[in-house]
Amino acid sequence: MPARFVDGSLLLVMAHPGHELRVHGLLGRLRPTVLVLTDGSGRTGRSRVGRSLSIVEGAGAQPGPVFGRMHDAALYAALLSGDHGPFLRLAAEIAAAIEASGAAAVAADAAEGFNPAHDVCRLLVNAAVARRRAAGQAVASYEFLLDGPPAPAAAGEPDAVTLFLDDAELTRKLADARGYEELSADVESTIDRWGVEAFRTETLLPVRYGFDLSGRIGSPPFYETHGERRVAEGAYREVLRFLRHVEPLARALRADAEEAALAAARVPDGADPLG
Ligand SMILES: [Zn+2]
Repeated sequence: MPARFVDGSLLLVMAHPGHELRVHGLLGRLRPTVLVLTDGSGRTGRSRVGRSLSIVEGAGAQPGPVFGRMHDAALYAALLSGDHGPFLRLAAEIAAAIEASGAAAVAADAAEGFNPAHDVCRLLVNAAVARRRAAGQAVASYEFLLDGPPAPAAAGEPDAVTLFLDDAELTRKLADARGYEELSADVESTIDRWGVEAFRTETLLPVRYGFDLSGRIGSPPFYETHGERRVAEGAYREVLRFLRHVEPLARALRADAEEAALAAARVPDGADPLG
């Protein structure tokens, strides 16, 4: 593992409670500060914050200043209506958390075109990392897949970080996953899909993109075709689309991060930047 990965040097950011199951071994080894955007209530209205909090704390990690901030319905409503304010504020809060924790690295959801909240989480973290780098903080940025395999092909690249859990770690991970009643259907289908042994591996991939998700998320992304089906069934009222809803947010976050970077670079009166 790279030298920057020492106990407590990692900030973990994820869209939903439950994602911590994918990096359960990492949670125990590095005890990161964990930020979670929504409460995972989905359309059931039942929060998953308590369940994830006990997993995070049980692994010796700690919750950060954002932990289940929004209802999922509020996140979708803000995206659909083009209300970027809550997202710009969250990006600033994530940047503040990176600064306060002094984290050497941030790991967060990958943009996979699977769930729009995951992709939004990635955009917020990229914005926050851009802000901190502009302010002079050296922070490495990693992503982990939620829809894709635990050991993706890109894990072979030199800057990827791979953990192999020992038997005790894998046992604890599976126990927490199978005990996560609110996600039991997802947990079972994910284990069936990849097989138990696959979850011994946890992979962090270096993030080499900023605000342009096109080309990474499928065209159209899964969530659009899924949304179309749900609208046809009468379950959703409107399809959440990449170009109409997510891309404008990416542009707003980019503009905001660039403005913050310019402000950070502005030198005080009388100072000579080249002196
Ligand atoms: Zn999720």
